[in-house]
Amino acid sequence: AQRFDRPEQTRVFVVANQKGGVGKTTTTVNIAAALAMRGLRVLVIDLDPQGNTSTALNIPHQEGTPGVYEAIVDGTDLDELVRPCPDIEGLTVLPASIDLAGAEIELVSLVARESRLDRALQAYLKDCVEAGDRIDYVLIDCPPSLGLLTVNAMVAGREVLIPIQCEYYALEGLGQLVRNIELIRSHLNPKLEITTILLTMFDARTRLSSGVAEEVRAYFADKVLKTAIPRSVRISEAPSYQQSVLTYDGASSGALSYLEAAREITIASSKESS
Ligand code: ADP
Ligand code: MG
Repeated sequence: AQRFDRPEQTRVFVVANQKGGVGKTTTTVNIAAALAMRGLRVLVIDLDPQGNTSTALNIPHQEGTPGVYEAIVDGTDLDELVRPCPDIEGLTVLPASIDLAGAEIELVSLVARESRLDRALQAYLKDCVEAGDRIDYVLIDCPPSLGLLTVNAMVAGREVLIPIQCEYYALEGLGQLVRNIELIRSHLNPKLEITTILLTMFDARTRLSSGVAEEVRAYFADKVLKTAIPRSVRISEAPSYQQSVLTYDGASSGALSYLEAAREITIASSKESS
């Protein structure tokens, strides 16, 4: 298969939307799978205590499994915590276990509580470069809240990818998300930018889906990827087999649309790097 171009430097995406069930995890898993299957080196950071991203990428994450909690609370090197995805070459995962649920509260009393993931990640990325093994893409899957875990992701990242579900109330809460990102920009991470919007669970047959898509494009303009992800049973089935939709059914419309969305993201890299 054709390979995607490597970006000039590592691109770090925060996949965020404080609404649950909009496709953050599905998008993280499948964009990461697509990028890696097209020859890129990808790190996925699971920042949701549910660990659904870890599950879908076939990474053990039962209670007590060392992962992102140890990285941000204890300061353990990522090098000791990341695990290769057994099914996709070039893809590694920093897993989340349920222990991470406590981190939101424990972080409050720690020094540099907003930038602990950033420190851990930057040190690791630097080590990878020095070892001649640069990572091309980092995708951070956020929990459905704007708490300290999401803040840590936004301090560590450069680009925000917002999945928007083409359903009723899709735009509800987006204003709050955008304002939060502005706050992070002005106080904690001036480099953070919303670069990518992905429409998910799109149903071309309904006026509702087209209506939401139109509204989102009017607001976010060319940040919205041309590819919308269709509502697809294959996409929702794949995680129960601990698979991405690309490894589960690579010929399905869901797999092809995630591949195409990933391709669009890699093409934007020349535009974004500055
Ligand atoms: P979030 O991480 O934002 O909470 P998820 O990615 O877990 O959202 O998706 C919520 C649910 O919707 C999951 O059960 C997932 O399998 C399903 N889902 C996500 N995207 C699609 C899609 N394009 N088609 C069908 N089901 C989907
Ligand atoms: Mg999720």
